Amino acid sequence: MSVIEKFPAVKGLLKENAKIGKKSFFGVGGAAEVLFIPNNVDELSTFLSELPENIPVAILGAMSNVLIRSGGIPGVVIILNEGFKRVFVENDVLEVGAAVHCGKLSEFAMDRELGGFEFLAGIPGTVGGAIKMNAGCYGSEISNSLIECEAVDFTGQIKWLRAKDVGFGYRTSTIPDDLIITRAWFRGTKNVDYSISKKINEVMSKRKDSQPLNQRSCGSAFKNPAGQKAWELIEAAGCRGMRVGGAVVSEKHCNFIVNEDNAAAEDIEDLGELIIRKVFEKTGVRLEWEIARLGVRNERR
Ligand SMILES: Cc1cc2nc3c(=O)[nH]c(=O)nc-3n(C[C@H](O)[C@H](O)[C@H](O)COP(=O)(O)OP(=O)(O)OC[C@H]3O[C@@H](n4cnc5c(N)ncnc54)[C@H](O)[C@@H]3O)c2cc1C
Repeated sequence: MSVIEKFPAVKGLLKENAKIGKKSFFGVGGAAEVLFIPNNVDELSTFLSELPENIPVAILGAMSNVLIRSGGIPGVVIILNEGFKRVFVENDVLEVGAAVHCGKLSEFAMDRELGGFEFLAGIPGTVGGAIKMNAGCYGSEISNSLIECEAVDFTGQIKWLRAKDVGFGYRTSTIPDDLIITRAWFRGTKNVDYSISKKINEVMSKRKDSQPLNQRSCGSAFKNPAGQKAWELIEAAGCRGMRVGGAVVSEKHCNFIVNEDNAAAEDIEDLGELIIRKVFEKTGVRLEWEIARLGVRNERR
């Protein structure tokens, strides 16, 4: 029996052995045992309510902060589609689908002269992934302007999360792993006393100058430890330019691991673990991965 026969017959795309790793930002990793792409909340909620309990579920956005291991992801991976890409505005409140890209949200807010979203311009993920990770840069975080979110749990129930009830920290949130964010409401700032487009251009050029944007990466590999910068610790441990297989510590920004030459997911993960070890030996600080690592590891032969 094909694995897909265990799944409920619903609308939306259901695909077996979907090669999602190649579509991730690292461009590596295995397949989703089954991929489900719903068109709207009803399809998502019906699918989840009918899904047998023992099937694992994972939710992914643009895959700009995940390393998918070579053995792939068992169970079902859910990726939100066009139906989750709408943006509406009323006064200073933006209603945003979870699959909207952070850059699009920033652009949309700029066109309506709403400030506070400029920092999102260079973050290549979706709004859903950004909320879950509390994405941010240059002193701003997505949780700063979040009012509330709509989410669907793994039993198909629709839930509402008010931002003030969620614990947001540096690149983390207390949003449970069994909630799929589907929509969010943000408050923008009217009448800002700066040029929004100028600020966006500044953010973009800062990134261009300091990050290896022409190479495959998932952004910062490690979180900054309290009061310290991960890249400085990595530099101090002599890891700049270090390599495992096709994975390399970027010369341009040493908190970026790049897939330079057909790296395997294991090259990237092993290089990350080597950095953690070397930084610990040199500085006594244990770095924590910012990149989520998912799926089954294929051991090296
Ligand atoms: C060049 C580059 C620069 C970057 N710069 C920054 C930066 O400055 N600041 C920053 O914070 N990040 C940065 N990132 C990392 C990344 O873009 C962000 O973390 C982004 O928010 C991840 O969104 P995503 O849609 O790609 O999520 P994914 O990578 O697909 O998933 C990330 C996590 O979010 C969860 N998730 C995804 N969608 C949902 C959903 N709808 N509901 C619930 N959970 C969900 C996943 O399960 C996973 O745990 C950068 C990445 C790159 C490649």
